[in-house]
Amino acid sequence: MYDVAIIGAGVVGCSIARELSRYDLKTVLIEKDTDVANGTTKANSAIVHSGYDAKPGSLKAKLNVQGNALFDQICKELDVPFQRIGSLVLAFEEEEMKIIRELYEKGLANGVPQMEILGKEQILALEPNVNDRIIGGLYAPTAGIVGPWELAIALAENAVENGVELRLESQVTNIEKQGEGYRISMEGQQIDARYVINCAGVYADEIHNMVAAPSFKIVPRRGQYNIFDKSVGNFVSKVIFQCPTKLGKGVLIAPTVHGNLLVGPDAENVDCKESRETTMERLAFIREQARKSAPNLPYHGVITAFAGLRATPDTGDFIIEEAKDAKGFIDVAGIESPGLSAAPAIAVYVAEILKNMGAIGREKWDFHPMGRKMIRFMELSDAEKAEIIKRDPRYGRIICRCENITEGEIVDAIHRKVGARNMDGIKRRVRPGSGRCQGGFCSPRVMEIIARELKMDMTEVVKDNPKSYILIGPAKSSSVLRENLDAAAASKTW
Ligand SMILES: Cc1cc2nc3c(=O)[nH]c(=O)nc-3n(C[C@H](O)[C@H](O)[C@H](O)COP(=O)(O)OP(=O)(O)OC[C@H]3O[C@@H](n4cnc5c(N)ncnc54)[C@H](O)[C@@H]3O)c2cc1C
Repeated sequence: MYDVAIIGAGVVGCSIARELSRYDLKTVLIEKDTDVANGTTKANSAIVHSGYDAKPGSLKAKLNVQGNALFDQICKELDVPFQRIGSLVLAFEEEEMKIIRELYEKGLANGVPQMEILGKEQILALEPNVNDRIIGGLYAPTAGIVGPWELAIALAENAVENGVELRLESQVTNIEKQGEGYRISMEGQQIDARYVINCAGVYADEIHNMVAAPSFKIVPRRGQYNIFDKSVGNFVSKVIFQCPTKLGKGVLIAPTVHGNLLVGPDAENVDCKESRETTMERLAFIREQARKSAPNLPYHGVITAFAGLRATPDTGDFIIEEAKDAKGFIDVAGIESPGLSAAPAIAVYVAEILKNMGAIGREKWDFHPMGRKMIRFMELSDAEKAEIIKRDPRYGRIICRCENITEGEIVDAIHRKVGARNMDGIKRRVRPGSGRCQGGFCSPRVMEIIARELKMDMTEVVKDNPKSYILIGPAKSSSVLRENLDAAAASKTW
């Protein structure tokens, strides 16, 4: 029997798993997908918010500010890219200056340090590319940018190194009260756990309803983005927000930790919890909105688009508590923005809840906080590069020419504790396919490496989840060609 079962390996589940791995507990982290960080954690603005936005006294406000302060240490321990670059909220008219002052007051109430209300000239001196029609704004230097999936992967890896068991491709289909704890059913397997922590993102209401009366509803709220090429990555140096509205923080412009530029998101409630497609209309709307902040936004530099789903609760705040009618079952639900920023503090908060229940005993003497560093070849000095190539010639072979990623880095990503199993897993860990050609050149080489290292056939290599095959047959095989021609003739789709 496990002491604790965590359902959902997004940044929240992974943070909790790592936090609990400090203690003498038998913990399992359960994820339905083929990899960790495959839900909302892989598609968001990647901002570590300073914390002026949420309502004072709310869990969002408290855990955002506490979480923000934990980022330096965690990212240092786990070798995750994080930069405290600061944020600006722009005001274009007097009405918006009122919102700026409200945000400032809320920030003070929430305990956000070092904020300043700036005038037009001060903002333009910091960010010459923003619209010179601004009249002022709010500067929060403690805001930052992070690699969200790198963080979740590193947290999961460190948790596993410290004894947590990770079960991928294990969709929870049922949970029943069983003796002192719960029986969790997944496809083809069952496990028992004394305590269950529900971190299932947009599905958290459905997991809750398996053991308790419905008490909240999660609505997926989609946000779309464009990513720009690194050649225009320094267009702004801080996160540039507009004044927030009822629907959220609005369209932002921000650099990413990898040197790209990110523009988005919008906010649109959708019916389906898998609706992650982008649309021409919404991306056009985002472009128009973003141009208000920076009229000369270099849209020729767009290299791709993506969308993520906020797990918006109907309660207005994070829901982090034991379910009323299910003892030992803890919901960590409705973790919409600023969930990424709050994740480290959410983990500490959940550990406190477990302590108060008497579930957590002593801290382990052998907890090891440091993650195993990745070799990022292009960040090495020439002497270091020469040395590493001498030790392992695979670091001398560049596979991704846009991002300058070597074969050695890809092989390492596959064989780490929480290793990559598919194309997107490699992309999230070491970035081939993230550059301006979007994998046009390197994909076949990456597939060969995955197939070789995991001893599978190239046709079995998938993009993401099972059945997302990339190769469907030999291009020049006459039988495949014949089938395609026959199919096209039948459907008249020439
Ligand atoms: C557009 C957008 C912008 C955002 N911007 C920011 C930002 O800049 N800063 C910030 O702080 N926050 C931001 N957020 C919020 C942040 O991304 C989320 O709060 C955070 O990623 C939530 O992490 P999570 O682990 O709760 O959810 P997820 O990452 O969705 O993880 C939940 C996991 O549960 C798994 N799961 C679901 N059902 C089951 C099941 N039945 N069995 C097993 N596993 C299951 C899923 O596969 C998934 O991996 C943004 C969100 C969006 C959508």
